Amino acid sequence: MLMKGMRGLVVGVANKRSIAWAIARVCADNGAQLALTYQNERLGENVRDLAAELENPLLLPMDVADDNQIKTAFEELSKQWGKLDFLVHAVAYAPRQALEGDFVSTTREDFRIAQDISAYSLPALAYAAKPLMAEGGSIIALSYLGSQRVMPNYNVMGVAKAALEASVRYLASDLGPLGIRVNALSAGPIKTLASSGIGGFSSILDHHRNHAPLRKLVELEEVADGALFLLSPMGRGVTGQTIYVDGGYSIMAI
Ligand code: NAD
Repeated sequence: MLMKGMRGLVVGVANKRSIAWAIARVCADNGAQLALTYQNERLGENVRDLAAELENPLLLPMDVADDNQIKTAFEELSKQWGKLDFLVHAVAYAPRQALEGDFVSTTREDFRIAQDISAYSLPALAYAAKPLMAEGGSIIALSYLGSQRVMPNYNVMGVAKAALEASVRYLASDLGPLGIRVNALSAGPIKTLASSGIGGFSSILDHHRNHAPLRKLVELEEVADGALFLLSPMGRGVTGQTIYVDGGYSIMAI
């Protein structure tokens, strides 16, 4: 019960295969009370079904591209809870055509969208969460190795993840004096709704399985346990870092 009595907001649940849902589950299993947001009404149905497994969850609509929706969701959180102990950012999007072929042909609009949804949303949510974290808190964002290395077809999302990880460092510096920690969790490749939009994703999975030191794909529960470490008091000395839960893949040259 590492998170007994703690309250957290999890952003990015789409369905039962979502990394955000695995994190929500492990936090709930460790005693946390959760608020989940859903991007739109279509996904809201899934999120409501999943949330039925949680004790006393809060459900809020929030499209991170819309400042008003962010404001409304946090006003509701403030009204219902008055405080927040942790925040999980597990959101990314780029138009499909930008996630295949060359990076050099990325359009200005596709670049803007990827940065807005996948990177800017983190400081936007941290800003909204800050007044609720007067007693300190922990924020994590999900990232991927494509921020540091060139991965086939990851393209504009790799650039957005680089911005996300740099944002983590700047936010950690701003918010550290308030007792708020901010970290990125870089997960190995997992089959989800978002990753299915990346061209040739199955060969990325194959390469990982064959070359990661642990010679297997990363499981949702392993990523969730990494999140539990960073979100709970176990991670109290860690901020501004990108922690890899990737079976060691990121250390390999091939
Ligand atoms: P997912 O499709 O389950 O989750 C992505 C979420 O982003 C969805 O819930 C979707 O609703 C949300 N989203 C997209 N645009 C949004 C918007 N405008 N407003 C609000 N929400 C929006 O896929 P996932 O793989 O679980 O992705 C979660 C995070 O993990 C992402 O940041 C992703 O880049 C990261 N990640 C995934 C992998 C992987 O291989 N699956 C690896 C490393 C990191």
